[in-house]
Amino acid sequence: MNIILLGPPGAGKGTQAKSLERDHGLKQLSTGDMLRAAIASGSELGRKAQVIMDAGQLVSDDIMVAMIADRIEQPDCAQGFILDGFPRTVPQAEALDTMLAEKDKQLDAVIEIKVDEAALFHRIETRIAETPADQRRGDDSAETLRTRLEVYHRQTAPILPYYRERGILRTVDGMASIETVASSIDEILKEAV
Ligand code: AMP
Repeated sequence: MNIILLGPPGAGKGTQAKSLERDHGLKQLSTGDMLRAAIASGSELGRKAQVIMDAGQLVSDDIMVAMIADRIEQPDCAQGFILDGFPRTVPQAEALDTMLAEKDKQLDAVIEIKVDEAALFHRIETRIAETPADQRRGDDSAETLRTRLEVYHRQTAPILPYYRERGILRTVDGMASIETVASSIDEILKEAV
C-alpha cells in the first residue's frame, strides 16, 4: 500500500507516519529527513538545501523528484511507503504520478491532516520556546514557521484539489489526539485495501 500524508508543518505527519511504519510495515519516506541527512553529511546538496530550508522555502522540484524516484526503488519500499513531506507542489504530484505509472505502482490513499493553524502556530511557538537553542532545527523559529505556512498555502495546498478530483483524497481532524488521528487513518486504510 502506498500513501501520502499531507498537511501544514506541525500537523503531525511525521508522528503518524512513524506509527504507520510500525503497525503496517510500510516505509516512511520523509523528504525533510532526507535533506537533513544530506546536510549532516556535509554534501554539496546538503549545503545548498540548508540555506533554502532555513529560510522556510522549498528545494527545487527536480532535486526532490529525483530523490524520491531513487528512494521508492529500494527494497525496503517493496511492501509500500508513506510519503511524508512529498509531494509539496503540483509539479511534484504530477511527476509522482508519472514515476508510479512507469514502475507499475499506484497510490492507495492521500490523507490530509487538517489543523487549526492559529492553534498550530501557538503549539509550535511553545515547542520552540521550550527547546534549548542548540537542539533546535535550523528552520525552528516563529518567523520561519510563518514563511513555511505561507509556502504551504501558496505551493502545497493546490495539491489537495489535484487529488480530490482523482477521488483519492481523504481528510482527518489533526486537532484530535495522536491516538484518535491514528485510528481515523487506520479506518481510511481499511477501506482503501
Ligand atoms: P519537513 O521536515 O517536511 O517540514 O521539511 C523541512 C524542509 O525541507 C522544508 O521546509 C523544505 O525546505 C524542504 N523540503 C522537504 N520536502 C520537500 C519537498 N518535497 N519539496 C521541496 N522542499 C522540501
